[in-house]
Amino acid sequence: MRGRSLDKKPAILIAIIAAVAAITLPIVLSIQFARQQGLAAEESKALSYARGVLHRSDLIADEVTAGFKKLRSVGGRRPCSAAQLAAMRAMDLELTTVQAFGFVSHGKLICSSLGRKIGLVALGPVDYVTRHGMRVRVDATFPFAKHRRFIVLERHGYAAIINKQLSLGVATYGKAPSIVVFTPTTHKIIASHGPLDPQWFHVAGNQQQVTRQIGGYVVAALKSHKHRLSVVAALPMTDVDQRIRDFALLLVPVGALGGIALAIAALYLMRLQQALPTALKYALRHNELFLVYEPIVDLQTGKWVGAEALLRWPRPGGLLVRPDIFIPVAEEGGFIERVTAYVMDVFARDAGDIFARYPRFHIGINVSATDLESQRIVDGLKALREKTNAGKGNFIIEATERELLRAEKARAVLHVIRGEGVQIAIDDFGTGYSGLSYLGTFDLDYLKIDKSFVDTIGTDAATSHVVSHIIEIAKALKLKIIAEGVETEMQAHFLRERGVQFAQGWLFAKPMSFAELTTGLAYSG
Ligand code: C2E
Ligand code: CA
Ligand code: CA
Repeated sequence: MRGRSLDKKPAILIAIIAAVAAITLPIVLSIQFARQQGLAAEESKALSYARGVLHRSDLIADEVTAGFKKLRSVGGRRPCSAAQLAAMRAMDLELTTVQAFGFVSHGKLICSSLGRKIGLVALGPVDYVTRHGMRVRVDATFPFAKHRRFIVLERHGYAAIINKQLSLGVATYGKAPSIVVFTPTTHKIIASHGPLDPQWFHVAGNQQQVTRQIGGYVVAALKSHKHRLSVVAALPMTDVDQRIRDFALLLVPVGALGGIALAIAALYLMRLQQALPTALKYALRHNELFLVYEPIVDLQTGKWVGAEALLRWPRPGGLLVRPDIFIPVAEEGGFIERVTAYVMDVFARDAGDIFARYPRFHIGINVSATDLESQRIVDGLKALREKTNAGKGNFIIEATERELLRAEKARAVLHVIRGEGVQIAIDDFGTGYSGLSYLGTFDLDYLKIDKSFVDTIGTDAATSHVVSHIIEIAKALKLKIIAEGVETEMQAHFLRERGVQFAQGWLFAKPMSFAELTTGLAYSG
């Protein structure tokens, strides 16, 4: 892109920032990712613990309710009758969560499914009484199982004895979570395991299920749908931290390696970018660049009426650098005028007697904005015309709309050049958005329709109608038209129909050496 320029300092700064970001970003992202993964995993683990315990607690409540109902229906007013003891024993076997049923009088278990041998057992004080009259002892012991703790639920004298540890269904070995089963409104603890934080009672609030991080724990809180029961399961964050460390140990080196590779690539590209101006100047000094010529045809007759000179820069390894890349380098490096002078020199050497043999043939030379700001181009063209024995109209200077607009000086320079018989073409027309009236104030001969617009001919692209507009504008400004980048017969037909006189493009010929150009000219006529 001729005429555009990038400052070098910001470019280096951007490259450094990009390199730093390339290294740190993957690391930060991998830690972030590990953290999210670790937390999500721990939350779902806590939740599944809580679900398991709640499920079991609901089952216990169901079985106790059903058991008491049954005992009342069998025993009636005579507790501890033979029929009732039989019913108690039957239920012991049938129900899965209740260890034993019994009957309580004055705080003592007077009979139970455990048999007569155990005698009267004092149950100790009641911890609390629920709204429905259920008397709850949460930490009862029995002489026949001194090391076990039991929950005793008692209502209307009937008692259900539940193994506390089994009620939680928690293994007490290894890294079991903290678990607490409690009443949702009064926060009476029915059973618990592990360290407890009173804040956990409030986690669920009005909701049925909540997971949250509180005071170094990942906490899952659940409420029963059926019974007045809440469960909290909590896992210490140290587990999460360990998980994050494990993840990070794996991800960070990968992220860092990728980042370093990216950074090296960025720095390498930057160095290459910085090395380009030097390499290009060297190539200019050593005449390494050459010109190719792209024929311009008369759309009516098919004859070659001119050619555009296009610069090529061969690199070691057979690579040809495109002008789209190195022209901006010369512009930014401030030596585009040297390039333009070089082009004129090369053509002067190539030209031979071409204008003597084809007096009406013209050569298009691309120039940049800087070229049009000084007298040098005027002198350069004068010397070129003399060296090549050129007459009026043998040269066309191609300048883009953007370049014309950039400098008011260009207007004067173009005026002088044109006065000496050099024609002026406005290149890449339509890509610069200048006003029609403004363009009318320049001395111009040709308008070149950019390839990007020719490409839209016959398509339903939103810009396909622009070609017709450009043709109208050229006609209004009384400019000859050269369509660029014509690749299909259909495009050529469309342009010819609308009165476009000239075209260039691969449909007619690709850019070629000067020798090929003269050979072709001999055939083309
Ligand atoms: P431009 O002046 O618009 O030149 C036309 C470009 O389109 C050329 O690319 C040409 O090879 C390409 N082209 C022409 N017909 C077709 C076609 O049918 N199909 C396709 N796919 N492409 C086609 P090139 O040679 O790579 O030049 C790119 C740009 O570099 C030129 O655009 C011009 O702006 C600049 N440039 C080339 N040589 C010079 C030079 O000596 N001096 C200056 N200042 N700029 C130059
Ligand atoms: Ca051009
Ligand atoms: Ca173009």
